[in-house]
Amino acid sequence: MSSNDLSFERAKEVIPGGVNSPVRAFGSVGGVPKTIVRSEGSRIFDVDGNGYIDYVGSWGPMIAGHAHPQIVKAVKDAADGGLSFGTPTPGEVTLAERLTATFPAMEQVRLVSSGTEATMSAIRLARGYTEKPKIIKFEGCYHGHSDSLLVKAGSGALTFGTPSSAGVPPDLVSQTVVLDYNILNTLEETFDNVGKDVAAVIIEPIAGNMNLVQGNAKFLGRLRELCSHYGALLIFDEVMTGFRVGPQGAQGLYGIEPDITTLGKVIGGGLPMGAFGGRREVMQKLAPMGPVYQAGTLSGNPISVAAGLATLDLISEDGFFESLTNKTRELVEGIEEHAKRAGVPFCASHVGGMFGMYFTDRVPETYEDVMGCNRERFNRFFHAMLDQGINLAPSAFEAGFVSSAHSEQDIRTTLDAAGEAFKVC
Ligand SMILES: *Cc1c(COP(=O)(O)O)cnc(C)c1O
Repeated sequence: MSSNDLSFERAKEVIPGGVNSPVRAFGSVGGVPKTIVRSEGSRIFDVDGNGYIDYVGSWGPMIAGHAHPQIVKAVKDAADGGLSFGTPTPGEVTLAERLTATFPAMEQVRLVSSGTEATMSAIRLARGYTEKPKIIKFEGCYHGHSDSLLVKAGSGALTFGTPSSAGVPPDLVSQTVVLDYNILNTLEETFDNVGKDVAAVIIEPIAGNMNLVQGNAKFLGRLRELCSHYGALLIFDEVMTGFRVGPQGAQGLYGIEPDITTLGKVIGGGLPMGAFGGRREVMQKLAPMGPVYQAGTLSGNPISVAAGLATLDLISEDGFFESLTNKTRELVEGIEEHAKRAGVPFCASHVGGMFGMYFTDRVPETYEDVMGCNRERFNRFFHAMLDQGINLAPSAFEAGFVSSAHSEQDIRTTLDAAGEAFKVC
């Protein structure tokens, strides 16, 4: 047995499934996940010393590459000054200023420790502000694992074919309406029927948890109108897309202002971090100013804040997103080319430093389209790539991520590997 396999056997004894987040377990692709001990730039290294060009990027945060010296230095410097104070700090204010300056729709923001916390708090805030009960979400969109949002969710929940979770009482989700992503008529009908009771609509404007499915501009525009008309708050969950698809997230690309934005992943630079923010008048409903309670012992942790600020510094350099987008395009177009040559039904899409690969003929626009992709082919492709030192997300329902640390040579190596992998799928 390799050190890697031994290591995972040991993990399974004391951690359910051997993992601290389900999709890491290789449940849908089969096999044993790599236990990673080190990372640098575009690469991660397992316990046996094997290196992999990494397109998971810790599921999104590592946009500047792994262990970027500037980010690591910021973390070390911050740590020298103390790990947590549980008081106001200057760094958290700087980060809040950065976020509110970036997103015009965000006048105030509160920092939390994960994306799950951000979306859970945003929902509570929307209900507290509107004094209405219902929320609308879309099938295949993942907003973390809080009870009222874990209905027909994406990511690990999709991978395991259990769209909702045991342990979530039906009463708790009875106020959650689930609709089809990018489908206008059911959205219109739902607002006609229950629009007056809707506190909020939460959506990934570019969905990254059912593979990558880009929001239709007309659909999102109409959603904005309906929310405004009925007095429901529009929550853009940009935990994945914020600072990933462009400098102002998906809302910048579509030119749509949500009422509340949730952030995570990139803003923590690889350390635990989330945020939610919106109009001042809405945010003022939060404790201690208002009646909506929300709190966190480690919220705004100075080490996470330092990592986040250092990351934001790196990605606000001129031309950052242009170069990242070009690299990502080169990658997906090259992979498509190899699939075509091998005669494998395949297509891909990308936005900013995020990409989707689909074992089907047409880029999916709906949840149903995504479900039509060939999973067996993906699984064979995944393992053939991993065997050649390329790390993709271990599920056909996850997006991929490119970082600024991926070199031209990394892309070429990846394309050569894809050429070989398509031969076996
Ligand atoms: C990852 C993600 C979350 C959950 O964030 P965690 O930090 O894992 O709790 C929520 N929403 C979206 C869109 C995500 O991609």
